[in-house]
Amino acid sequence: MTRIDDLPIRDELRGKTPYGAPQLDVPVRLNTNENPYPLPEPLVERIAERVREAARGLNRYPDRDAVELRTQLAAYLTRTTGHRIGLAGVWAANGSNEVIQQLLQTFGGPGRTALGFEPSYSMHALISRGTGTGWISGPRTADFTIDVEAAKDEIAAHRPDVVFICSPNNPTGTAVDAQTVLALHDAAQAAKPSLVVVDEAYGEFSHRPSLLALIEGRPNLVVSRTMSKAFGAAGLRLGYLAADPAVVDAVQLVRLPYHLSSVTQATALAALEHTDTLLGYVEQLKAERDRLVTELRAIGCEVTDSDANFVQFGRFEDAHAAWQGLLDRGVLVRDNGVPGWLRVTAGTPAENDAFLDAVRELMKENGK
Ligand SMILES: *Cc1c(COP(=O)(O)O)cnc(C)c1O
Repeated sequence: MTRIDDLPIRDELRGKTPYGAPQLDVPVRLNTNENPYPLPEPLVERIAERVREAARGLNRYPDRDAVELRTQLAAYLTRTTGHRIGLAGVWAANGSNEVIQQLLQTFGGPGRTALGFEPSYSMHALISRGTGTGWISGPRTADFTIDVEAAKDEIAAHRPDVVFICSPNNPTGTAVDAQTVLALHDAAQAAKPSLVVVDEAYGEFSHRPSLLALIEGRPNLVVSRTMSKAFGAAGLRLGYLAADPAVVDAVQLVRLPYHLSSVTQATALAALEHTDTLLGYVEQLKAERDRLVTELRAIGCEVTDSDANFVQFGRFEDAHAAWQGLLDRGVLVRDNGVPGWLRVTAGTPAENDAFLDAVRELMKENGK
């Protein structure tokens, strides 16, 4: 049998494993930060209508510039963040992972480096590797915040071309305040003009305002967003960024022609028509997230403050054994490899109750 390493693949890919959370068939799946609520039926109907319309034109390529969709995304951002943004400052792709890939193809690449503060979203490092961009793992404190002075030292020492700031951070839930982002942005510009990417995949779940306003007058600062989490549309694959229009022009240099299918554009537009209903689910999930934090602490767990739709909890002597213990009780959470900690996605109230019961049993079994 031919193995991957027998093929003439790039050296930096040899011996590596692909990204992927184990997907197991269990009653309660709280491991991938998906929205637990299926799309409401009126929206499903609207998607069917818009896709039917789009289907009539599938003999043609889609709108390469996704003008209607970007206009509606800009309107959504303007309305929800209070920061005025237009079509020219928004770009969309197949998931924010593709947005990040396009940014790294444009601003990273061979001979260049990207830096992130870990533990954080592992795809930042993986997409860097996939685009030939060197990866630098920057530090977080013991409570998973970013220490500004330590971070500035790291930036000055490595002079990265791209800096990732994930806020709220996956897998810890930690939000980053605007002052910290500004300090890191300024340090990155002083070291060498570099692109600062603020990944706000969980922005809608945060107690804090969006960092979008910071892009004003800062052409090297980008905010990336997604419809995978707050919009409950992980299956749609729609991510987007907001930035200076020059950044949108720059990613045109690497994006594949017609990368965003007519069906995707039609579906995303239908979802945006139902924003208010979907943001209602976000409010329910925020309340459930806060309940998880409170109840886990009452049970005796340590919990990292969360601004996202998930909660990092611990601390376990053996996090993987605890993960297995919960799985044995029918609850799948995520072991992100942060020693001592696990991550649970806020689900429906019933799913969260099942999860909390399982944790209680586990703690009792471990004599806590
Ligand atoms: C889930 C997630 C994304 C979303 O990726 P999509 O490709 O839009 O589904 C991006 N960044 C972070 C930090 C995430 O957790």
